[in-house]
Amino acid sequence: PDLGRIVVIGGAGKLGMLFVRMFRLSGYQVDILEQGDWDNADALFANAGLVVVSVPINLTETIIAKLGCLPKDCVLADITSIKSKPLQAMLNAHQGPVVGLHPMFGPDVGNLAKQVIVCCDGRGKEQYQWLLEQMQIWGARIYDVDAKQHDEAMTLIQALRHFTTFVYGAHLAEENPDIQQLLDLSSPIYRLELAMVGRLFAQDPTLYADIILASDNNVAMIRRYAERFMQAAEMLERNDKDGFIRSFEMVSDWFGDYSTQFLRESRNLLLQANDNRQFVNVDN
Ligand code: NAD
Repeated sequence: PDLGRIVVIGGAGKLGMLFVRMFRLSGYQVDILEQGDWDNADALFANAGLVVVSVPINLTETIIAKLGCLPKDCVLADITSIKSKPLQAMLNAHQGPVVGLHPMFGPDVGNLAKQVIVCCDGRGKEQYQWLLEQMQIWGARIYDVDAKQHDEAMTLIQALRHFTTFVYGAHLAEENPDIQQLLDLSSPIYRLELAMVGRLFAQDPTLYADIILASDNNVAMIRRYAERFMQAAEMLERNDKDGFIRSFEMVSDWFGDYSTQFLRESRNLLLQANDNRQFVNVDN
């Protein structure tokens, strides 16, 4: 009750808006600080118990650097998709409690039940603990991790994932097949793949460009992937079936028990993907 107000910088944006809504539904007094509101910033910050930064990735550090005037006990948090640099910028700008968060979901989730929020401690855990508990009340699961380890994992989980999706989409656009026919002929797993690829292109290209370009490690990882892709293609050009099978078995060993677990887990998804098919009557 004695928190004061919450200020969400970039709170009119896609993900910021979700958090503004959740805080307001839980009874907090929330102010939004948007691009044109900086003249009024000092007045907003004066009463703030929590400031959340939710601006485009490439502006995050510059905006955090402007936050030197927050009240001493105010919690400073961000929800940027990368963690090391924003966390360091927050620790430099503010002497009070600091926490880096990364919601592992997009703005289109209906609610936060079972959604994961990554938490990177900055300082003053006991002072921001209430925020983690509030997000747990919303149903989220908090995953504590070191910022550097988070960023390394995101090279695979986000940068390489989104990049390969982007390239597959670009490849489809160049080949220009009839999408409806692909869907009509699709196996459940292909339908799911097409949905996963297609949904990227319904979203904001700047966010994905910033995620992929966030670190040189991402580009180096993508380069290694591209080289392995070409090696595999060359193996096929040599008609090297034995080589293919040997590689397959090597990967299968690496996955170990996870591959059978994934087979089980994906079965339900595929049944659902098949169930969701909408057959178009070609006569209409
Ligand atoms: P967005 O572009 O929809 O929102 C950003 C907001 O910041 C906009 O309302 C914009 O007007 C505002 N803004 C820009 N410049 C500003 C300034 N100088 N001062 C104040 N506000 C300013 O982007 P988003 O998708 O909501 O992403 C916001 C953050 O959330 C990013 O750091 C991103 O990494 C993170 N994030 C996004 C997703 C996602 O799927 N969208 C998922 C996880 C994390």
